[in-house]
Amino acid sequence: MPGKFPEWLRRPWASGETVGLTKDIVEGLRLHTVCQSARCPNIGECWAKGTATVMVLGDTCTRNCAFCSVPSGKPTFDDAEEPQRVAEAVRSMGLKHAVITTVARDDLPDGGAGHIAGTIRAVHALNPGTTVEILVSDFQNEPGALRCVLDAEPEIFCHNIETVQRLYPAIRDRRFSYGGALDLLRMARDYSPRAIIKSALMLGLGETAQEVETTLEHLSAASCEVICIGQYLQPSQRQTEVREFVTPRQFEDYESLAYELGFAFAVAGPFVRSSYRSEEVLETDFARRRLGAAEAGPERAQLPAEKIQR
Ligand code: SF4
Repeated sequence: MPGKFPEWLRRPWASGETVGLTKDIVEGLRLHTVCQSARCPNIGECWAKGTATVMVLGDTCTRNCAFCSVPSGKPTFDDAEEPQRVAEAVRSMGLKHAVITTVARDDLPDGGAGHIAGTIRAVHALNPGTTVEILVSDFQNEPGALRCVLDAEPEIFCHNIETVQRLYPAIRDRRFSYGGALDLLRMARDYSPRAIIKSALMLGLGETAQEVETTLEHLSAASCEVICIGQYLQPSQRQTEVREFVTPRQFEDYESLAYELGFAFAVAGPFVRSSYRSEEVLETDFARRRLGAAEAGPERAQLPAEKIQR
């Protein structure tokens, strides 16, 4: 750990009535949240605002990334009613923008794509006017699984690149690849002209400023339009250590750099996470143009049939 916890990472723990309400809704509908599983530092603030990021397909992941506190193992979760419960939770929370994430389910033939698509459709059906952001694993870059999710028309499609290429072997489960992550984002762009393509990067794992810049260039070249850049914080002693506390000034510089590199929306800061205040992009002209204009429905590009080489 790089010395004392810096003052910019100290902040009051939000509490109060709404936190309790959000908790009741989540627990009442037997839902998992990444807020809890990943021990997110923003849970107090988000739940106090009445928002939460639901994690579908259970709370056991088939992968084991070194930075992640989501339990890894052999999932047993199998509940076809979950999509409808997620839709009800969104309605109960009155969310205008629902962020849904998922564990990796390499044990399922479609990687869980059908269940995820069903969740997106259920939320849209029960909550007209609510936009859906889906944060997914990589489905082993299977085009069919990706098509299945995108055909459910999430407004925002997100796959987190998480870290720079050099650190992938140490930080990401071996089934992930840096190139595969870029290919997945590019495939999503090619297949769904309407969806906003998003990714997120954690800093403080030992990356250099040049590596961050190169990763942003690669993401931009892969048609990623929205980028979130935040400070990695060690959830527990079992996860990899923090190597550096990146200063708020450095984050500001990365945010400006992202705009210089052509991202339509970029947010960088110590507490930034991909689902943190994610509704803010929807207030931009870029998103209004994209989500509004596309109602006309331009033709969809055909995805290559063969499996993407990692
Ligand atoms: S894929 Fe990695 S980051 Fe995602 S839930 Fe599983 S272990 Fe965590």
